[in-house]
Amino acid sequence: MIRRVDTDVVVLGAGPAGLAAACAAIESGARVVVVEREERVGGILKQCVHDGFGVARYGLKLTGPEYALRDADRLASLGAVVMLEAFVSKAERTDGGCRLACVDRSGVVELTAGAVVLATGCRERTDRQVFIHGDRPAGIFAAGLAQYMINVQGLLPGRRALILGSGDIGLIMARRMTLEGMEVLGAHEIKSEPSGLSRNVRQCLDDYGIPLELSSTVTAVHGSRRVTGVTTARVDAAMRTIPGTERDIDCDTLILSVGLIPENEIARSLGVPIDTATKGPKVDQNMHTLAEGVFACGNAVHVNDLADYVSESGETAGRSAAAYAASRLKTGGRAPERRLTPLDAGPGFLYAVPQFVDLAAPRRGELAAFYFRSRATETDGAVVRMSAGGTALLERRYPALRPPEMERFELDTDAIAEAIAEGDTAMPSDRRITLEMGRRSAL
Ligand SMILES: Cc1cc2nc3c(=O)[nH]c(=O)nc-3n(C[C@H](O)[C@H](O)[C@H](O)COP(=O)(O)OP(=O)(O)OC[C@H]3O[C@@H](n4cnc5c(N)ncnc54)[C@H](O)[C@@H]3O)c2cc1C
Repeated sequence: MIRRVDTDVVVLGAGPAGLAAACAAIESGARVVVVEREERVGGILKQCVHDGFGVARYGLKLTGPEYALRDADRLASLGAVVMLEAFVSKAERTDGGCRLACVDRSGVVELTAGAVVLATGCRERTDRQVFIHGDRPAGIFAAGLAQYMINVQGLLPGRRALILGSGDIGLIMARRMTLEGMEVLGAHEIKSEPSGLSRNVRQCLDDYGIPLELSSTVTAVHGSRRVTGVTTARVDAAMRTIPGTERDIDCDTLILSVGLIPENEIARSLGVPIDTATKGPKVDQNMHTLAEGVFACGNAVHVNDLADYVSESGETAGRSAAAYAASRLKTGGRAPERRLTPLDAGPGFLYAVPQFVDLAAPRRGELAAFYFRSRATETDGAVVRMSAGGTALLERRYPALRPPEMERFELDTDAIAEAIAEGDTAMPSDRRITLEMGRRSAL
């Protein structure tokens, strides 16, 4: 028999983003159902036993599980309905909001809600694995899988490891594997700069004497049942291998750390437009996607570098989803008016989030958070300027900008609305919000 549950907000995913969203929505007066496919809440943080979480949010250096437990306890005290080991088999938008078919151990549950928050996190890229043709020897692991094996299952993935890529999880795992007694031979990064945070390069490689080889890649994996070694080679500026630079290295483990990608299958099935730069839904400052009633937060939107910012976006999404569902109830199902103005990020940026500002949204007295990554490393005091309606609202000089490091600033969206209202509406440039990068004199 199909159970039917009607609620105000459904939160999909109970990692730090979903937990924060669910708490904020309940605290805003909404009835909330959380759907989580794993048997425990906490998301990826359950396997992140290193510290460094919570510095921005709590002024404390917590481990991943400690950080997640704070929101899990908060959610439990709020009495949320949490469906564990549950997954969504069908999602659709309706006139009143959303309908989700969920399957858990009790059977099929049909959830209807005024709003849904997608907090499904991200997954590891494995596309680079395609270079491994023919035999598929054991011993090749995504860095997050190695992290799960060591930190949750208490298993060592091997004895002598080489890391392909220099993403943050690979760097963190270089240190972890070393501490667990494995020999880590080095990390090979195809680009000329590391992909992970400078702090992780220092604390996880340099402090342990693990070499980072830039402009270098793995060109072959050897072994039939188990990896017995790899061949590495240097690459040129176009990332083509340079003949004659090949090196055979004995190892039994290859760890892949080649990036993360937002998890958005459900978003796609709900018709949510996706940003090709972030690979996540396009959102406004309230984490409302371009699909009515569908909100998104955390690493499902873009890969954040701090879990604290993941939680921040969860809080925003939860509060906004609750307000949205309440407003639809009050107006007999009518969606609140939105006045979406795009944020045009210039060529100096890899991306900026949110991609839109809703000028009609009530601000509820808060500043909106904006996040961006630069396209290239800038060490010469780049200036970032945000303007609306031709008026500069924020100008900030950055001593250094690096693509792996996410930057954040806050702005009053009322100021944006006022600047646009005061601009010359006949001039298309005066109806825009822009983010530019350059030298102060050139901007
Ligand atoms: C493998 C891996 C390892 C990582 N290691 C680190 C690290 O060491 N340090 C660090 O700072 N960051 C790490 N990260 C980044 C990490 O994702 C973020 O720091 C943070 O956990 C993001 O929070 P989130 O809530 O957005 O996503 P997550 O923590 O990933 O939580 C998403 C939750 O949604 C659930 N979910 C997904 N899809 C569905 C669905 N369809 N139905 C129901 N539930 C669903 C998942 O089971 C999960 O519990 C890692 C990421 C990955 C993928």
